[in-house]
Formats: sequence, C-alpha cells, structure tokens
Amino acid sequence: QCITHCPTGALHERDDTQKVFDAIYDPEKIVIAQVAPAVRTSWAEGLDLKGTTPSVGRMVAAIRRLGFDYVFDTDFAADVTIMEEGSELLHRLAKGEQGPMFTSCCPGWVRFIKERHPNLLGHVSSTKSPQQIFGALAKTYYAQLLDVDPARIFVVSYMPCVAKKMEAAYPDMHSTEAGPDVDAVLTVRELSRQLRSRFVNVDLLDEEEFDRPLGVATGAGHIFGVTGGVMEAALRSAYYLTTGENPDVDAFREVRHEGPDRLWREKTFDLAGHTLRIAVTSGLKNADALCRAIERGEVDYDFVEVMACPGGCVGGGGQPIHEGEERAAGRGGTLRAIDRASQLRFSHENPAVQECYKTYLGEPLSERAERLLHSDHTAWSMPFRVTADGKQA
Ligand code: SF4
Repeated sequence: QCITHCPTGALHERDDTQKVFDAIYDPEKIVIAQVAPAVRTSWAEGLDLKGTTPSVGRMVAAIRRLGFDYVFDTDFAADVTIMEEGSELLHRLAKGEQGPMFTSCCPGWVRFIKERHPNLLGHVSSTKSPQQIFGALAKTYYAQLLDVDPARIFVVSYMPCVAKKMEAAYPDMHSTEAGPDVDAVLTVRELSRQLRSRFVNVDLLDEEEFDRPLGVATGAGHIFGVTGGVMEAALRSAYYLTTGENPDVDAFREVRHEGPDRLWREKTFDLAGHTLRIAVTSGLKNADALCRAIERGEVDYDFVEVMACPGGCVGGGGQPIHEGEERAAGRGGTLRAIDRASQLRFSHENPAVQECYKTYLGEPLSERAERLLHSDHTAWSMPFRVTADGKQA
C-alpha cells in the first residue's frame, strides 16, 4: 500500500543511470540534460572535493563530461511556467472563479491531493511542471531550431526528486509523437554515482556555462527550488502583467520566511486594484491541514503554493542523505543568493523565453501553449505504478 501510494515516490527509487548511458552511446540520439534549480545547491555533496568550490559552472562542466550533447537549465522552463501559470491565475481572477488556484509544479503534491483531497483537484493549475515544460519544448521548439526529427532527441532530467520519475511517465506528459516529453529522470544521488563511475574529477574542471537558448534563466526561475519561490516568482510577473511595470523585486519577500510553528504562511497583496490572498506551505502534513481548513470554509485564498517536501525541493527525496543532518535551509539560502546575484530577476524579462513566445508559442495560454505546456490532471488516477523501464504498469 505505502509503495504504490507514496506521494513523493521515495519508497520506490529506480536507478536509471544505465538507460541514460545507453542513450549517450547511441550515435542516433541527441542527448540533452536539464538541471533543476535545487540540484545546483547539492550536486557535490556526494563527491569528495579537495577544496574546489562546487559552483554552478563546475556542475555544468561535470555533467557535460558525461557525454551530453547539450546541458540546459530547467530554470529556463521555470520562467516559462511563470508565464503560463501567472496568466492562468489572472484569467481566473478576471472571470471571478471561486476558490484557490493551487500550484502544480510538485508531483508529490499533485499525487497527494488526488489521493487525499480529490474534491480540490479542479483547483490545481493545469500548467505543467518546469521539468515537463522543458521536455515538451526540447522535442518541439528546440528540435525545430536544430532542424532534426524530434524522435532523435532524448531528454534527461537531473532532479532533487523521486516523484519526478513517476511524473514523466504520466499519460498526459506525452505532448508529441516523439514519445514522452522526458525520457529519463535521475536524482542527485544518481548524478553522484554517474560522476564517480565515469571518474569525472571535478577538482580539475574549469567553470562552463549552460548551452543556449534553453540554458538562459532568471533569478525568479532559480528560486523555484525553495518554499515560497514559485509564489514569489509568479507575483513578480503577475504584477507586471497587470500593470505593465515591474514591482520592487523584493515587494513580495514576506512569502519567503517559514516559522517553525506555522503550518502555512498567508498574506494579502494589492495587485492592480485586486486584493490577492495567498498562502504558502511545504510538507504534506502542513498541506493536509491547509486543505482541511479550506474544505471546512475556515480560510479562503486566491493562490496557494504547496511543495510536498519540507522547505521545498532543496529538501527533496532525491537529494543526498546525511544521517542526522537536515540541509534544506542552507540549500534554500544558496538559491536565494543565486537569485540576488542574477542580472535578470523577472521571468517575463528572460530574453530566451521572450524569443520562444515570439517565434514559436505565440502568447501565454495560446492554442500551442495549451497543447504543449498544460496537462489534464484527470488523465490518470492513483495508485499509479510504473514498470522498471519507466512505463505505466
Ligand atoms: Fe519533488 Fe520538489 Fe515536490 Fe519534493 S517538493 S516531491 S523534490 S517537486
């Protein structure tokens, strides 16, 4: 029972490293890596670095040494997620729809709400997670840029998460005839094993940049990996989309801090004359309490961010494990620092995202965007099992 119902999938981790190496050694395949926000905070924890700084640039260099044709950033897709989810929120508000819109980027949370609070499922945003949006765009937009058959493209995700392996297998995550949007999902622990097995010596590597254009991201995309980050990124761009001006980049900073005795954070913000009521929580015990309060009519919000793992993906089930030590808070601080150091801090200012909309997607929620970047949460039901080769059982 626990294995098939576990929302984060942490009880049935499947090792996909050989599947990825098989694709890398296949000369017909164009093998693309995408790296989730929280991976950059922890990727070297399982390695024995000799004083070398485990920077983002070294992480890119190390992954490239595994043999990938391109190393891209999931945070590019996080910026796209904001364009879609922020637009979805504004449409709901304009239509006066009742009840909250829940974020949808955490598959552990989506599995949980399907299992425990199915009456609220219709309130979950239809926007796919950044992992899936990246895969869908890699096999369509990027295949077109390369002028290759999408079937040749093999997308590998490096995630801090075990539930992402399951997410990639859902039937509504196949946007094209080229198979699933994402072909293989590896955790940070699997990345460590890959680097060790291929004798990649990070101490000898110089820093390298992500490939372009799907490696261009903003600070708003980077904070997706820490609790409150999706909400803050969405509010930054929702403000712009309603007023035509950027807010102060720290205008929504109050969604960041999570006190130890609080089940969820709630705030109200003025957004173009509308009083927006938001809530943010992480950890499924807290999410359960929040759902029950909503169901009892004790609280009412417009927009709610939920991440299944305490602290968000920085505390994910695919992260390195340190017995008796919890590193989520420190990793979250690293993502916040990366956001502060970023030249661009608003998803709508990402030039690669702007180009993608201009030349391919059209506008947020366009027919093409709906087809590629949105999902149908009723397309599968719990319990959902996958076979050893990643297919639905
Ligand atoms: Fe995965 Fe992040 Fe959700 Fe945890 S919080 S289940 S790591 S997406």
